[in-house]
Amino acid sequence: AIFGSERVNSSGINIDIENEWTSFRDGVQKHMTRQWKKGPIIGGQPQETAAVTKVLSPYQRQETVGTIHWAGNADVEMAMDKATHAFNRWNQTGVNERSACLERLADLLEIHRNELVALCHREAGKTLHDAIDEIREAVDFCRYYAVQAREKFGAPMVMTGPTGESNELYLSGRGVFVCISPWNFPLAIFLGQVTAALAAGNTVIAKPAEQTGLIAARATELILEAGVPGDVIHLLPGDGATVGSHLVADPRVAGVAFTGSTETARLINQTLANRQGAIVPLIAETGGMNTMLVDSTALPEQVVQDVIHSAFGSAGQRCSALRVLYLQDDVAERIIQLLKGAMKELLVGDPALHETDIGPVIDAEALTGLERHVAKMKQEARLIAETPLPDDCDDGYFIAPVAFEINSISQLEREQFGPILHVIRYKASELDHILDDINDTGYGLTLGVHTRNEASACYIEERLKVGNAYINRNQIGAMVGVQPFGGQGLSGTGPKAGGPHYLYRFATERTRTVNT
Ligand code: NAP
Repeated sequence: AIFGSERVNSSGINIDIENEWTSFRDGVQKHMTRQWKKGPIIGGQPQETAAVTKVLSPYQRQETVGTIHWAGNADVEMAMDKATHAFNRWNQTGVNERSACLERLADLLEIHRNELVALCHREAGKTLHDAIDEIREAVDFCRYYAVQAREKFGAPMVMTGPTGESNELYLSGRGVFVCISPWNFPLAIFLGQVTAALAAGNTVIAKPAEQTGLIAARATELILEAGVPGDVIHLLPGDGATVGSHLVADPRVAGVAFTGSTETARLINQTLANRQGAIVPLIAETGGMNTMLVDSTALPEQVVQDVIHSAFGSAGQRCSALRVLYLQDDVAERIIQLLKGAMKELLVGDPALHETDIGPVIDAEALTGLERHVAKMKQEARLIAETPLPDDCDDGYFIAPVAFEINSISQLEREQFGPILHVIRYKASELDHILDDINDTGYGLTLGVHTRNEASACYIEERLKVGNAYINRNQIGAMVGVQPFGGQGLSGTGPKAGGPHYLYRFATERTRTVNT
């Protein structure tokens, strides 16, 4: 048996080394002009539906990445029939075989890394740095859940006790799992959900975000190539409000894994509550109003470096990203000055260039929403700094990283999913009040604390309802199997992706008692 401790995380490449960068860039370059053509995959077969659109790149609106065919309600029915029929067979397939499929998938992702990097870059506008990390995370999910499944689904747990009988506890798949994913980690989150569901013995119907259907389709092809039968995994690229809600409403669905906005999670919850059929679990991993608290003992240079990464990395399009920075008043001015300097140095632009720090946001709708918030903040708050946008940014959905000083977190109505930082100064005597304000937002995803006083860090961490607390470092980039990730409250139902309990959420438990 392979146990968790024997698993290693994927190794990366260091593109800051000249040789590694040039050979990587040349490998990716081969896929940079390619046109992908994808659509629904049902029963192992690609489907050419009538509804088809061009896929354009977020950093260069004139650049076509390919075309995608959209699934409709008839496709939902076909996928649901097949997934329902396949469930018992897949669930009874030994866990070793299921895990072996995931490990072959991890190998295939590594073999096809350059193609997947190019696709994440072109369809989702990822910088090459971010795209490499994305593939690595996907690989790690596959290998981690393979090991977890063997450990948990391999042999029953023997329950000893005074009954004089044989008592055992088994884990088993639930049935058809619907996996609905967002565009911001189009490969890693898509595969994280799907591989966890498959490892636990479920059949899967996956509905990726509209913006990143090509990546999901390529990933599904690799799942099939890795040996997962065609009737066990189905892909339905399509509109969330129609295809997504039609899927969730089907009484044959045994569970839903959803990652996306809090608003959509609520809609899915309502649909599940109102439909016929069993009461089933919703695994929801949603947004955040993430804060970092910095006290007067913190190291200002380190704080600024971590703030820049946490707030502006990946153009702020991470659920874990820092949104509100609290600075104790006696260090606030120094940190704000350093922050201004660091923001001036950030390079926004072509995500294919090695030196680019920040690429585009995903689409016109995202850009408009962020611009609206920036305009509102310019009226209501004090502008601290705004990174200059280079001239050649007009063809893509670029927004300048910006920081504002505000008075209270209650001024922010919702998560702003982009490179916008809000700063609040506080006095030591106001700490408890601030912690109440943060809890009052209802969100509970990530927290950063910068302090050299261990007792302060513990105090803050214990008072706040969050899923992931990071002390004296940045607050993004949780590592699979090492930093299980997920929030509470408005940030989700609490499961930890990449953690040792995640697969339980996809399983049912049966107790078997034999009178011996
Ligand atoms: P979103 O708008 O909620 O969409 C997520 C997925 O739900 C998409 O596939 C979407 O399809 C689908 N959908 C929309 N309406 C639906 C409905 N009525 N029924 C079923 N499915 C429906 O979120 P997003 O903009 O893609 O992603 C950004 C959000 O995800 C942010 O709030 C971020 O914080 C959160 N996030 C959380 C985590 C975490 O681990 N906690 C990780 C990453 C992202 P369409 O594409 O067709 O709309």
